[in-house]
Amino acid sequence: MIETLITLGIILIAAIPPIWYFRRNRNLKKISEQKFRESRETGRMEPVSLHPLIDPNVCIGTAACVPACPEGDILGIIRGRGELVEPSNCIGHGECFRACPVEAISLVFGTERRGVDIPHLKENFETNVPGVYIVGELGGMGLIRNAVTQGRQVIEYLAPALKKQQYSNDSVTDVVVVGAGPAGLAATAQAIDMGLSYTLLDQNDVGGTILSYPRQKIVMTQPMEMPIYGKTNFREISKEELLELWYDIIDRTDMTVQANQKVEDVRRENGHFRVITQQGNFTGKKVILAIGRRGTPRKLGVPGEDTSKVTYQLQDPEQYRGKKCLVVGGGDSAVEAALQLADEPGTEVTISYRKDAFSRIKRRNLERINDATENGLINVIWNSNVTKIHPDSVDIEAEGDEMSIGNDFVFIFIGGIMPSGFLNTVGIEVETKFGEA
Ligand SMILES: Cc1cc2nc3c(=O)[nH]c(=O)nc-3n(C[C@H](O)[C@H](O)[C@H](O)COP(=O)(O)OP(=O)(O)OC[C@H]3O[C@@H](n4cnc5c(N)ncnc54)[C@H](O)[C@@H]3O)c2cc1C
Ligand code: SF4
Repeated sequence: MIETLITLGIILIAAIPPIWYFRRNRNLKKISEQKFRESRETGRMEPVSLHPLIDPNVCIGTAACVPACPEGDILGIIRGRGELVEPSNCIGHGECFRACPVEAISLVFGTERRGVDIPHLKENFETNVPGVYIVGELGGMGLIRNAVTQGRQVIEYLAPALKKQQYSNDSVTDVVVVGAGPAGLAATAQAIDMGLSYTLLDQNDVGGTILSYPRQKIVMTQPMEMPIYGKTNFREISKEELLELWYDIIDRTDMTVQANQKVEDVRRENGHFRVITQQGNFTGKKVILAIGRRGTPRKLGVPGEDTSKVTYQLQDPEQYRGKKCLVVGGGDSAVEAALQLADEPGTEVTISYRKDAFSRIKRRNLERINDATENGLINVIWNSNVTKIHPDSVDIEAEGDEMSIGNDFVFIFIGGIMPSGFLNTVGIEVETKFGEA
């Protein structure tokens, strides 16, 4: 009897790992399939930059890559093999590549369907246009640490020669840095540290892509050498803390950031460069493009859009508490912004969308927005277009009818224009990669 019990006990204990493994894989498969379906339905199948390519002939489905990704469930298991189930959310950490025990993952740019333009750069980050340099994500390498390192390195390379040059014209700075994300800020701080003169321009404001992260997002990074600040040892930091760190560097260096300066062209003239924005011209001996890959927000092109009440991102929903807000657009960004605004007490939120349904958003967002509209927290004006923005109202055309609604702030989320056209204007050669390293 005792022997039988012992045997049964051994069988039970031995059965635990396979049962656990089976249940874990069944759950993972279910979640993966749902996420993959959602990504396909909402047209979110294209990774922005560097991402994993999984060879199905080598992958043995251990799922080691799934928990290795610091961004959450971006990878999954489908039909027993690893798969990128939320491709658009991949930011190219490459941890999955390192975690795979059978080396089934390679890191590539672009996909078979959508090419990614990668500029040709020399080792010193110079493009085919002599004197114009590219650092940060635009060059192909994502991640904050890479952006900071490249921003610092390009100045270390340029400084000795620039210090030797003498110019009589004071308006020509040593460098014009375009983009105040991690790469541009690091380049500028390094330029200040090395005694170079600079102009720093951004179409938006300090922070770059970090500004668009969700509130309190945990930013994963490796220790890095920040100009002025020195070596950082953290591997995790909140979005807000990271921005504070940059503001501290800006304060310590007395750095001037020229915000709301969208650069449209860069031309060579009389031995230096003229950098042209919608507001004016800036001249420099060298130009450093640190404009990332995420593009410029698309505009509506209606009267009143250039006023300060109009914005293309939502950073701090609390500041709109009790205000009348209009969100324009019907994608995930628009819906998420509307939901965040509606969470603030007393805020009146309206969405203007040119279609008659939210057909391309994540299921979770669809459920939440349906709840919010049913409970009267958000009003949606379907089949509508904003025609004019006034100081305290907005004109909207909906199915042939003109209406005017009271308004304090307008948030526009209608997609972005990628930097390829700009690079083309400047004459920078790119190679379009279709799923290649
Ligand atoms: C949701 C999300 C989460 C992420 N999480 C992490 C993470 O945890 N860890 C990590 O290391 N990385 C993360 N990343 C990636 C990281 O944000 C980027 O790799 C990094 O910001 C790239 O820095 P950058 O300076 O090259 O470009 P960006 O940060 O994109 O900055 C580019 C700047 O250029 C400006 N600009 C663009 N065009 C023009 C123009 N024509 N004229 C003037 N200015 C212009 C933009 O306004 C912007 O301020 C994440 C990205 C996203 C989207
Ligand atoms: S490359 Fe990075 S973000 Fe993309 S799936 Fe792998 S670990 Fe996640």
